[in-house]
Amino acid sequence: MEIEQTMHSMLGLGMEWAVLSCRFIPATHTFLITIRETALLWRKERCPKDGGQVFCYDHVGPVRWKHLNVFNQACELICDLPRAKCRACGRVYRVTPPWEGLSKHFTRDFEAFALTLMREMPVNRVSDIVGVADGRLWRMLLAHVHRAYAKLNMASVSIVGADEMNRRKGHNYLTLFCDLSAKRLLFATPGRDALTWDKFAQSLRDHGGDPSSVSQVSVDMSPAYREGVNAYFPHAQTVFDKFHLIGHASSAVDAVRRLETNLDRRRKALLKDSRWLWLKNPHNLSPLQQRRLARIDRHSLWTAKAYQMRLALQAIYLLPLPRAKRRLLSWCRWVNRAAILAPAHLLRPMLRVANMISSHLPGILAHWSAKVTNAFLEGLNSLFSATKRKARGYRSINYFIAMLYFTSAKLSFPFLPHPPFHCKS
Ligand SMILES: [Zn+2]
Repeated sequence: MEIEQTMHSMLGLGMEWAVLSCRFIPATHTFLITIRETALLWRKERCPKDGGQVFCYDHVGPVRWKHLNVFNQACELICDLPRAKCRACGRVYRVTPPWEGLSKHFTRDFEAFALTLMREMPVNRVSDIVGVADGRLWRMLLAHVHRAYAKLNMASVSIVGADEMNRRKGHNYLTLFCDLSAKRLLFATPGRDALTWDKFAQSLRDHGGDPSSVSQVSVDMSPAYREGVNAYFPHAQTVFDKFHLIGHASSAVDAVRRLETNLDRRRKALLKDSRWLWLKNPHNLSPLQQRRLARIDRHSLWTAKAYQMRLALQAIYLLPLPRAKRRLLSWCRWVNRAAILAPAHLLRPMLRVANMISSHLPGILAHWSAKVTNAFLEGLNSLFSATKRKARGYRSINYFIAMLYFTSAKLSFPFLPHPPFHCKS
């Protein structure tokens, strides 16, 4: 078998195309495969507009497509690409060859390989490996995600979680909407105001879903989200997310620590470098940290008290409902009493958490009937944490959203070998 025939069958070309030559160019380390259409193409090709018969109008090019490496040397396909003219409507168009990817200068096989790498590593590393500028890789990804996202079916969506994510520390907020039952990202959009819910409702309708079928939304207690849910998902029950509430309590403990540090020298010395002790759960502390905590505990600091409050709040989530509700209310009373005793409004941050609980009680208690949490969203947030985002250098918000959909929306990419690890269920 001649090498041209071998390449023809390896490329999976039909009888409409022939490999004219294969040569290696040492100067550029490139393996070139030259292809040309055969007469058979003109019998099969039809006008994409009306299915009319076409004839060869002219040729453009030579056009080049980057293909998979051959013996680790760059490989390109070259073809004087035919343009066809329709006998019925007179339209002249560029014939799309079977090897072409969504980008006009990559083959499908090359795109599949580059996308597989892009799911596993930062795009600038993929750029080094495949020898293509990262901007071109991003545009290719955008085209694939755009096409796959258009086919996303949201008909079964009923339990939604929403959360914000900042693209750079403190800037460029996005709101992410997830299907908490199917554990997939549904929609990501810049902003964190009530209008993001309008956009999400529209996207849901565009993909066969129905905002009135959404029975539960799990969110944090931000007024903008509450407003958005009330306006665009009036049938949904709001569930205030457990992680957020405990997160508020943890931040409050940290705020108490800062206030107490400034109270006097003795407390300052005791609390020095203790920030991480109070943010963790006791079973996550190292033996050294546990001994330190026990030592500090003996000095009856208000920070330790606030820490106990946070742990008690967390423990309430392990109880069944009638008891959990009573314990939540008594927790609030406990915090109120302690706050009165504490000097210099030291426990005011904890008091704010107690007030938050009192004023959002139905949504907080809905957690027990909902049985969903924003754990999937929390996972996404840590997967795309600020440091990883920095390392991956998402230069535009569109690229970032495309990468979120690519890895986490369970889009269908039949040519990719396996789903990303965090989307396996
Ligand atoms: Zn036509």
